[in-house]
Amino acid sequence: MPFATLGLRAELCRAVAARGYANPTPIQQQAVPVVLAGQDVLAAAQTGTGKTAGFALPMLQRLADSGRPLRPRTVRALILTPTRELAAQVGDSVSAYGGELRLKSAVVFGGVGFNPQVTALARGLDVLTATPGRLLDHLQQGTVSLDAVEILVLDEADRMLDMGFIRDMRRILARVPSDRQTLLFSATFSQEIRDLAGQFLRRPVEIDVAPRNTTVERISQEAYAVDKTRKRELLSWLVGSNNWRQVLVFARTKHGANRLAEQLEKDGLRSAAIHGNKSQGARTRALEGFKSGDLRVLVATDIAARGLDIDQLPLVVNHDLPQVPADYVHRIGRTGRAGRDGRAISLVAPDEIGLLRSIERLINLRITPQVLPGYEPSAGAASMVSPEPRRGGDRRPAAPADQQRRRPRRRRPQGGGLSSATTR
Ligand code: AMP
Repeated sequence: MPFATLGLRAELCRAVAARGYANPTPIQQQAVPVVLAGQDVLAAAQTGTGKTAGFALPMLQRLADSGRPLRPRTVRALILTPTRELAAQVGDSVSAYGGELRLKSAVVFGGVGFNPQVTALARGLDVLTATPGRLLDHLQQGTVSLDAVEILVLDEADRMLDMGFIRDMRRILARVPSDRQTLLFSATFSQEIRDLAGQFLRRPVEIDVAPRNTTVERISQEAYAVDKTRKRELLSWLVGSNNWRQVLVFARTKHGANRLAEQLEKDGLRSAAIHGNKSQGARTRALEGFKSGDLRVLVATDIAARGLDIDQLPLVVNHDLPQVPADYVHRIGRTGRAGRDGRAISLVAPDEIGLLRSIERLINLRITPQVLPGYEPSAGAASMVSPEPRRGGDRRPAAPADQQRRRPRRRRPQGGGLSSATTR
């Protein structure tokens, strides 16, 4: 199904063709006509589904169609994002898609100079992409007004809530006219998201293209059992011996991410860390270095990695398992994008086995840790093997048929030792 059948103008169809998109993704197929019709949308879709074009293309078309003149310091469409990286990426997409429509757009986020942003806002904008904190600074300074907003997009709203932006979001929403069109994108529909939607959306059309299981279907998921103190060594060995060239590694804390990147550098692997305490310049440099192939390993925290758009990322490694199982799905969603196969590897210490079990329950798939010779965990190893199925069968919920086919049933461990069955 070509883009034109969705009702998009020739300028926008040319813009997506120039980016090499042949056909709309499922979120685009569903969202574009609804947004073009002026309806509110509540969409469950993560990064990697093509959601940005899903809201940006019809939004640009509506702005171009109504063609209202710009007033100084006003904004016609506002896109709120949780992180600077996502704001920059969304801003880039908006200007790329809207190139032929002569709409004015800009991005504002913290950590960079205020005054250039004031200049960008001064003459008015068709589209502003912003993070909440810096946008509030501008509102307080009177350098922008939201009185003329026609379309509001809350991108990765669940992550904005996770990052504690709810009060900032409310303050911003209070400044936006109530007769606007609102589009809310979130990886999941939690109760909090539904509450937010109930308050700020008007009879939204619900779109759900990312049921939890299907998002991870194309990703092979493996785990290695290893002591916490030897994870870095195992990681270096895996990267080196497999000659992996581009690996996104997740660490739980900013400090842990820094330390890991430094140690990997000492092991001879070009690495950098990306997290919220890094300056904007350092984050951009690290991302560019990783994309260009100068860096082999990018170590990221969950928040910093959220929304990173890196094409064809082959491999994600969880150096630490996430505390929140849903974050595992977000993490591994960085690989296997746009229909390609991906691979996710988790390093699991004995005290993380409970976290692994919660993840397995969420994704409805068993991931039995393998043990590599020389890296056998010293303590608590027995607990890394799942309890034997009870009589009458395993109590776990059945995985979808295609996933069951791709993984062998767990074998009984020989002699009470560790199982090394893989789950691919
Ligand atoms: P997003 O979910 O918006 O972050 O987009 C994920 C990736 O998919 C980005 O690299 C986009 O450039 C790419 N993309 C978006 N729409 C399409 C499409 N229709 N066909 C192929 N790639 C796409």
